[in-house]
Amino acid sequence: MSIGLKNYSLKNERENRINFDYSAGMPVDPVIVDEMIPYMTTKYGNPSSLHSFGQEARVALVDAQRRVAKLIGSTDPEREIYFTSSATESNNLALRGVALRNKKRGNHVIISAIEHVSIRNAAKYLQLRGFKITILPVGEDGIVDVNFLKDAIEPGTILASIMHANNEIGTIQPIEEISSVTQNEGILLHVDATSSTGKIPIDVARSGIDLLTIPSNDLSGPKGVGGIFIKDGTPIEPIIFGGGQQRGLRSASEDVAAIVGMGKAAEIAERRMGSDGKRLTRMRDKIMDSVSETVEGVSVYGHREHRLPNNAMIGIFGVEGEQAIMELDKNGISASTGSACASKNLDLSHVLEAIGVNEVERYGTILFSLSRWNREKEVDRLLAVLPRIIGELREISPIWKFRDRLEEFYAG
Ligand code: PLP
Repeated sequence: MSIGLKNYSLKNERENRINFDYSAGMPVDPVIVDEMIPYMTTKYGNPSSLHSFGQEARVALVDAQRRVAKLIGSTDPEREIYFTSSATESNNLALRGVALRNKKRGNHVIISAIEHVSIRNAAKYLQLRGFKITILPVGEDGIVDVNFLKDAIEPGTILASIMHANNEIGTIQPIEEISSVTQNEGILLHVDATSSTGKIPIDVARSGIDLLTIPSNDLSGPKGVGGIFIKDGTPIEPIIFGGGQQRGLRSASEDVAAIVGMGKAAEIAERRMGSDGKRLTRMRDKIMDSVSETVEGVSVYGHREHRLPNNAMIGIFGVEGEQAIMELDKNGISASTGSACASKNLDLSHVLEAIGVNEVERYGTILFSLSRWNREKEVDRLLAVLPRIIGELREISPIWKFRDRLEEFYAG
């Protein structure tokens, strides 16, 4: 039985406001909600139960594993795809689960300087428990230099965790080059693909990836669920203990409705990736090109081509990012200053620091994260108001006023 979504449409959301802050949260596609509802109402069995109620839920779970596996190139869904509560949990499982399980082999873990806080803080946790953590630098374009990775590997290195694409600057890492190093050196590779899954192709088998963090909401699936690919045979231990669900690696009764939603989101993303990617790239480039060509003192952060199709991050010298966000909001447009996790407290981005953006410039960033719900006319509306907003904010900006004399001021 399917329950129709009579009162639910994304049309109104689009007509009333323009959202360029989809990295903070995506709407759940009504088609996906429709597929989830029976698993909260009539098909509410527990996949661990032997009776047919339970087995109905088990079939749905296995189907979701199959859909997620297909999106990322896993050939053994039932042994390699696990569901968690979030990308944060998947990242924690990857780092802590691999490090603790392999500590007899070595105690050295490598992460990149632009990883999400869920990786950075899991690494800090390990450091407090005696692990050695190396943070790999990135270039100005946000890309890891594989020679630095080679140099960082030591006899006790067990794991490298390098994200596929960065959530702030959009830069995509050369994962196959990276995995050729990790495979040669016999160390495990974890890739956080939260920002990239379903936006650009990834093939875990071809790319030599041992563990891959997979999102749900970033795919337009529900929040409160996430996934992880773990290559069969990878030495890892659980970080949550309980009834031994999911092959003992992730105890807790599975949220089948959410998992079904994530599976459907993966299926839709796989089908739409190519055409959405082309449309998003056009809109992304229009934002970056137009603002940097028409407004002076604007920088585009991240690699110009090796970047996510839906990510445009710009730096506007002499303008405070938060003020620009509030002015855009008054004009009915949502954007952010950077990572959703850090943008409410005024912490400056470690990602921008890693690519060499100075502290003054780091105050003036705007991140436009697009989704397939965006339309070209929304980009036009943004471009019609943004230069005026920047101009008005610069009129009251001391940094802009004294921009030619800043070095003199710094020198004291
Ligand atoms: N990894 C990356 C690259 C992210 O951008 C995020 C969230 O934005 C996460 C992990 C954590 O995702 P969640 O907050 O859904 O657990």
